[in-house]
Amino acid sequence: MLDCAIIGGGPAGLAAGLYATRGGLKSVALFERGMPGGQITQSSEIENYPGFFDHTKSGMDFMDGWQKQCFHFGLEHRMDEVLQIQKYGENFTIQIAGKDPVSAKSVIVCTGSTPKKIGIPGEDEFFGRGISTCATCDGFFYKNKEIAVIGGGDTALEEAYYLSNICSKVYIIHRRNEFRAAPSTIQKVQNKENIEIILDATAKEITGDNTGVSGILLESKNGNIIKLEVPGIFVFVGYNVNNNVLKSSDNSFLCDVNEEGQVIVNLKMHTSIEGLFAAGDIRMDAPKQVICAAGDGATAALEVISYIQERS
Ligand code: FAD
Ligand code: NAP
Repeated sequence: MLDCAIIGGGPAGLAAGLYATRGGLKSVALFERGMPGGQITQSSEIENYPGFFDHTKSGMDFMDGWQKQCFHFGLEHRMDEVLQIQKYGENFTIQIAGKDPVSAKSVIVCTGSTPKKIGIPGEDEFFGRGISTCATCDGFFYKNKEIAVIGGGDTALEEAYYLSNICSKVYIIHRRNEFRAAPSTIQKVQNKENIEIILDATAKEITGDNTGVSGILLESKNGNIIKLEVPGIFVFVGYNVNNNVLKSSDNSFLCDVNEEGQVIVNLKMHTSIEGLFAAGDIRMDAPKQVICAAGDGATAALEVISYIQERS
């Protein structure tokens, strides 16, 4: 029986693992289906994590030390895909692909989120090399350059506005003639002189070469092809939280989630189920930043330590 099962090995899961093991829990396992590190390992650079300021280092380099530090303190990495978390009585059962289930006294769910993709040619090829899903992370790389933002929701418009303060020009490309963002946000972008809005335009292909993105091809409503030459494209077409591990066969969730499927937690990362915690991008109102995910993970682990102590 594990004291704690941590599901997902991104910044939230690794920080939880560090705090749980250093905090004295005896058996803590991190279930991560791939190499630990999470989404940030897809990024070519990270420059908004305090104390880490080296342009030659990638997101992968950045996360390398995190796992070493965790394993040093006794965290065990199990390279497994978790299928489902169930609760029977006081304990949890972790269903794992191709293996026997594992029991745990507590669980921290850190399975993160996945930015949605548009699904057009060039998108996978140039992801992280001119295509980004994080303006606060990558906007600065396009200082005084022209970029395109795809999407028509709050995220796309808010991020386009943020980028317009860094970039010389921002094109907002939306597939319909109406935004779904809040009216005040729409007004803000409409009033910004270096934002050009292109409505009723469908992104067809992202072009580039071995140096990265060179542009995007759009199709207008009347079938005309528009080519924008931009070195950066920000895709904000929504996020999917990776909440499948909390779903049962009838599609109900183990704990309370909001309308978007994000796990509802309190400030201590407690979910609605005793002994079940959630941290990082999976939780409601997550700022979707490494530093916040790590903070959540540490908070959840400290709560798990108290929970295990109270139980024994
Ligand atoms: P994730 O990083 O999403 O990690 C979740 C982990 O859970 C993954 O490793 C996944 O494999 C694993 N997992 C999921 N489901 C299962 C399962 N069923 N079984 C086992 N394992 C599972 N933030 C910044 O602060 N600064 C930046 O510069 C920055 N740049 C970014 C650049 C890019 C390209 C992207 C995509 C994101 C960037 N972010 C940045 C955002 C940041 O990466 C995320 O906010 C952060 O990684 C969230 O951490 P997390 O641990 O909650 O989830
Ligand atoms: P969202 O509201 O789901 O909007 C996604 C946008 O992307 C939509 O405009 C959608 O177009 C477009 N889109 C989706 N798939 C596409 C595709 N394949 N190709 C091109 N465009 C595509 O996502 P979000 O903006 O990330 O917001 C998520 C939630 O968080 C929302 O509830 C939002 O209100 C909330 N949020 C709130 C704030 C705030 O309150 N300040 C800030 C950010 C986010 P269509 O419009 O045609 O569907």
